[in-house]
Amino acid sequence: MFHLTVSPYRCSIAVALVLATVPVFSQSTAPASATTAPELRVFDPSLIDKTVDPCENFYRYSCNGWFKRNPLPADQASYGRFTELFELNRLHLKQILEAAAVPAPTRTANEQKIGDEYASCMDTAAVNKRGLAALQPELDYIAALKDAAALPVLLAHLHAIGVNAFFGMGSNQDYADSSAVISFYGAGGLGLPERDYYTRTDAKSVEQRKQYVTHVHNIFVLAGETDAQAQKDAETVMAIETRLAKASLTITEQRDPQNLNHPTDVASFQKELTHFALGDYVAAARAPAAGKANDMEPKFFAEFNALVADTPIAQIKTYLRWHLLHAYAGTSLPESFDHETWNFYAHTLNGAEKQQERWKRCTSRVDQELGEALGQVYVAKYFPPAEKQRTLEMTLAIEQAMEKDINSLDWMSAETKVKAKEKLHTVMNKIGYPDKWRDYSKLEIVRGDALGNQMRASQFEVARDLNKIGKPVDKGEWQMTPPTVNAYYDPQMNNVNFPAGYLQPPFFSGKEDDAANYGDMGSTIGHELTHGFDDEGRQFDKDGNLKNWWTKEDEQKFNERADCMVKQYDAIEAVPGVHLNGKLTLGENLADLGGTWLTWLAWLDKAKAANVDMTAKTDGYTPDQRFWIAYAQQWCTQTRPEKLRSQAQGDPHAPDEYRTNTVLQDLPEFATSFSCKKSATMVKPKPCRVW
Ligand SMILES: [Zn+2]
Repeated sequence: MFHLTVSPYRCSIAVALVLATVPVFSQSTAPASATTAPELRVFDPSLIDKTVDPCENFYRYSCNGWFKRNPLPADQASYGRFTELFELNRLHLKQILEAAAVPAPTRTANEQKIGDEYASCMDTAAVNKRGLAALQPELDYIAALKDAAALPVLLAHLHAIGVNAFFGMGSNQDYADSSAVISFYGAGGLGLPERDYYTRTDAKSVEQRKQYVTHVHNIFVLAGETDAQAQKDAETVMAIETRLAKASLTITEQRDPQNLNHPTDVASFQKELTHFALGDYVAAARAPAAGKANDMEPKFFAEFNALVADTPIAQIKTYLRWHLLHAYAGTSLPESFDHETWNFYAHTLNGAEKQQERWKRCTSRVDQELGEALGQVYVAKYFPPAEKQRTLEMTLAIEQAMEKDINSLDWMSAETKVKAKEKLHTVMNKIGYPDKWRDYSKLEIVRGDALGNQMRASQFEVARDLNKIGKPVDKGEWQMTPPTVNAYYDPQMNNVNFPAGYLQPPFFSGKEDDAANYGDMGSTIGHELTHGFDDEGRQFDKDGNLKNWWTKEDEQKFNERADCMVKQYDAIEAVPGVHLNGKLTLGENLADLGGTWLTWLAWLDKAKAANVDMTAKTDGYTPDQRFWIAYAQQWCTQTRPEKLRSQAQGDPHAPDEYRTNTVLQDLPEFATSFSCKKSATMVKPKPCRVW
């Protein structure tokens, strides 16, 4: 099954498909408390540090007060305003789940499912007592694998129950024809976060690989192997994964949809996979036996095919056993597995000092498995219709600003402008939650069976996903659950999506004025919209087809401007020895800059129409100053060095400090608002600008 590349905090665009295991251990969290949590404000003057010159470091100026008030909690790898809201939402979800967990006969079918799943996950004693017993049939199935000929059927089963072994298969819109849903085959099968963890040669990466082998060893020991056998098996896993990783595209290469588009069909793909009976796999997965498909990474699948041919079956079984244990080692297996998994992924790789409390992880788990059942209750309580309306108005105003912006571009030809505006006018705005809720009636949730529930929830989701192949596209479907603190643009749907969980203070509030709401949530709306026109999104036309609508000359001019951004971010050294990757972060950086510019234009128009007095001060700041401060305050975040390092290496988003200062350095309008001198750090002699 495919998951979108959704990094915590802010959107991602849907073309970069990656495979992910259940991330119950890697979600960010914080110890919020209902009684002690202060009111979250979109523009908060009490967070400002007046001892810092806003023209020297605007991030520190806007956020130092927040940093003082919010020391990094021990269970966090990073903690910022997004986590602040994430934790508050999670607390609200917990209250909903605790009420639903009381087995009252008046519960609705959905309340039974979310309540019983939460109760099952929270029952640590039952999970511990059961040990590995619930997973034994799956372990036996792997142990019984006789030869490679039987691998396809076993693999289809493992994929259905959420095991990320070797590769992934799921449904997706055809890149060439967005009205058709076809099967996509993607690279996968790694236990480390992404392929470069297996190939980097610096001392820290070498050490992380050793620590990973130790982690795999520890899991095998917990599963009953002797120390020596576990060591041997962990090395086998590492060897197989390294081979897969080396044949996979880098995360930067994956950002170009052209690299992921290799149309084929089931029969032709079968001819390539000479040692893997694709027909058996497809039949066992209950996917269509014929029809168009996309081999996203041909080099990877060639290597997979060779690996199946030349790897002893005992080693393949070891590899599968590891990925099965790994997939369930969160809240479904005894605490020893859970803790060992936290220790490697959250502590060693990202620096967290304490494991999150179980209720937090169980709440996130229900959100992941039954998000639209839980989300329906959440929305009714926390997202009034008036706020949906106000968000929609803001979105329309920013889209209008984009039209004006396109008209005013001096580098784009009239011909390409017509196409750009056509695309802009076709964008569909989705706000808060789906119009039609997902039907979970076929998903069985059994109280007291945490592991079985995880398995059935995965099977339900995989079947739902594969069932879309060959059917009309459902444009109303959401890729994020309603309580999510995030947003996204989908280039194949050409829509922007803002979940209700994000349209809350400190990012948006019905109580705040436009200066604050446009500066903060408006910049996100502009950000998502700009993704339709960033280096990836611009390759898709108004209907979501991967089809070039640019003249050669305009394309070249776009690339020259984008290159200014690549160089600017390449030059930033985020942690000693690790620079940001300008190409990897290009789409997000373009969206940050374009989105902030567009919301600024939209807000100026709105303020003018409303006759806002631009010299009148509120809390000591003019409306435009408050706009910029609200923008900056959304990014206040503390991050551990380990996390900052992994973020600089692998996150398509720049760290928050640069999402503030670097973006504003490219917007001279900011410097004007704070009367910055030309020599100030926040003033750049030659700003970058695309949109
Ligand atoms: Zn984004």
